[in-house]
This record gives sequence, C-alpha cells and structure tokens, in this order.
Amino acid sequence: MGINTTKIIHSLPVDPLTGSISVPIYQTATFVQDAPGVHKGYDYARSNNPTRAALESLVATLEGGTHAYAFATGLAAIDAVLKLLTAGDEIIAVDDIYGGAYRLFTHVYAKFGIKVHYVDTTDAENVIELINEKTRFIWLESPTNPTLKVSDIQRIADIAKPFNALVVVDNTFASPVAQQPFTLGADIIIHSGTKYLGGHSDLVAGLVVVNDNELAEKVKFIQNASGGILGPNDCWLLIRGIETLTLRVQRQCETAQKVAEFLAENEAVDKVYYPGLASHKNHEIAKVQQNGLYGGVISFTLKEDTEAAANVLVTNTQYFKLAESLGGVKSLICSPPQMTHKSIPREKRLQSGVVDSLIRISCGIEDAEDLIDDLKTAIDQVVAATATNLVGQGAV
Ligand SMILES: *Cc1c(COP(=O)(O)O)cnc(C)c1O
Repeated sequence: MGINTTKIIHSLPVDPLTGSISVPIYQTATFVQDAPGVHKGYDYARSNNPTRAALESLVATLEGGTHAYAFATGLAAIDAVLKLLTAGDEIIAVDDIYGGAYRLFTHVYAKFGIKVHYVDTTDAENVIELINEKTRFIWLESPTNPTLKVSDIQRIADIAKPFNALVVVDNTFASPVAQQPFTLGADIIIHSGTKYLGGHSDLVAGLVVVNDNELAEKVKFIQNASGGILGPNDCWLLIRGIETLTLRVQRQCETAQKVAEFLAENEAVDKVYYPGLASHKNHEIAKVQQNGLYGGVISFTLKEDTEAAANVLVTNTQYFKLAESLGGVKSLICSPPQMTHKSIPREKRLQSGVVDSLIRISCGIEDAEDLIDDLKTAIDQVVAATATNLVGQGAV
C-alpha cells in the first residue's frame, strides 16, 4: 500500500462526535474539567489541543516516527531541539546550513556554551575527524540551501551511534515524500512546515518528529515549558496542505528536472545545482536516498557573474515571483547573496559556491513549458543588457 491511502488521506479518523470528515478547529484556550485533574485528556491549550494533536499524529505517521510536535515556525522547532542540550555540549553541523539556524546557533546558543563545528558533511571523513564524546548532535540538511548538497545520512548515522550522538535531519527540502530519514538511522527530524508540507505559501509552521518514547517526552516537555506552539487554525491549514503533498511534490520534481535540463543547456548559464542532474556531484547518493525525487528547488549561476545581471533576471520573470521561501504551488525566485544569505560574509559564501550571480528558484505547479519560457525570456534580457554593456554601468 502506498503512503497516500493510509498514511495521509485516511490517517486521521472521522470526528467521532459529529462525523465531520474534516478535522474540527478547536479554537479554545482551556477545557472544562469534571473535578480537579479529571478531564477528557485536554486541560490547557498550550499543553495540548485536539486540532494540534491531529496534525502531530499525521506528521508522525508520515515520517514513520512515534511522535511529532508542532511549533509556531521552523525556527521555533529548531530552538526546541537545541534546548535538549546543556552547556559544554557540541554539535557538528553541515556547513551549508539554513541561515536562520546559523544565526540561532551563533548569536543565541553560543552564549549558553553550545559549540558548533561546521563541516562539509557530504564527505563523511570530515565528521569522523571531529566527533568526540561531547558531540550530542550531528545536524544535517539534505539537500542543502542553496547549493543542494546531499549527505549520506545512513553513513553518518553509523558514525554517530558509537558516540551516542543523535542525528538531526532538517527534512524541509526533500519532504517526507522524497526522503524518510528514520529509515536511514536519523533520530530527530525537523521541518519548516512553511515550505512543502503547507505548500501554499499561506502559513509559517515548524515540526519536530522523533522515533523514541524517552526523547518524545523530553521534546513534549520543552514544547509545553517554552510554549512556542502552533495555533489551531494554522494546524488545520497544515493538515489540509499535507493532504496534497505527494501530488504537489511529484509534480514539482518533474517540473524541476525539466527546468534544470533547460538551464544546463542555456549558454548564458554557468553552473546548475540540481541533484537530479547526472552532473551534480552528489547525484548517485541522492538517487538512492531520495527515491529518485530530487526536489523542486534549483540554483544556478550566470556567466555574467554580477549582482546586476542577477537583478535583471529576477526582476524580469512573470510567473517566478521574487520572494524568499520555497515549496509552494506558486513558483518563486530569489538572489540568495542579496536576500536569504545576505548575513553571510562575501568571502565565506564565495567559498561555498554562493557567487554574486547565484539565483535560486522554487518550482511551483504551473505548467513546465510556461516556467521554462518565463526563465528563457528573462535570461534573454540579461544577454541583451550584457551585450549593450548596461549591466556593468548599473544602468539597469
Ligand atoms: C525555512 C527553513 C527553516 C526555517 O523555517 P521557518 O518556518 O521560516 O522558521 C529551517 N530550515 C530550512 C531548511 C528552511 O528552508
């Protein structure tokens, strides 16, 4: 049986009170008790809410875990996981990590004595070199943002086990449709529900998923103690988004493959980063680890490697809207050096391939041919502007 029938569409029961086929939104702060401590499983809405419980059960099932916990944003989910640590603990993290996670590690948790080592985790030797008895987490994103690096999760989990270090996988970019980290030995999965799970660019949300009762209790404790929960309306919206997750992701992956192949052939384009291309340096591991689904995000660079050239492109697309975020039904385009990765010093980002002209696109569910035409038209504008030397003079 596929995941759609039992793990998504019929994962949640019909409402036993009314027969409502859609999960009810319990918009309440508190729950009336029969006697002190005698209630129907719910006492206060920070601690638990039936709509949130439905979402959490759905996501736990989808990822093949035992429990999931819903937070106000992806970063709130990451923050909750970091609170499992104590001063002196260490993290080994993928060097191409989400900028918001880097900011939280560096500007919040460093002062509480949490040390983070950043390495290129696509080479497992780098992890072997750094791991020690203080290492509590190996923090992976795969594929990464924006250069779509893919790490061998199973291999890294094997390295972590003897040290009792937990493998945390931010599965936002792959989505559970393409990648199931628990089957590869991961201990904690994180999602920005804002992206593929929600899928419609209409909410922000985060999830922590675990596969162990003891760990579940600790995360649940933090969720209640710190209180960064997702409200019932957004829980409902996220459930509704997840119902079409596989359809959307399959379509987005098919489209992205076509778009990536078009870009790879285009003369004005320099490099294309997409794990579905045989030329991608982690293509082989991605093929096995992601069920042949390489995601909807592509990054590429221009031969005219300037921010000005990138700006001509990103301001001349009609369907690819210029905005941060990804994973929604509407295609988005952005210039990471000027937007999502602006806080990273230029020297540092150049080392990881994030050059001035790097552009990231997130394919939506529009027709692939229209998206390709849209990019072609905008790239032609870059070529025209470069030919008349307008780009260098800042005239465009
Ligand atoms: C967007 C994102 C986050 C943060 O999620 P928010 O919902 O924006 O807080 C974390 N990890 C990855 C990989 C992301 O793309």
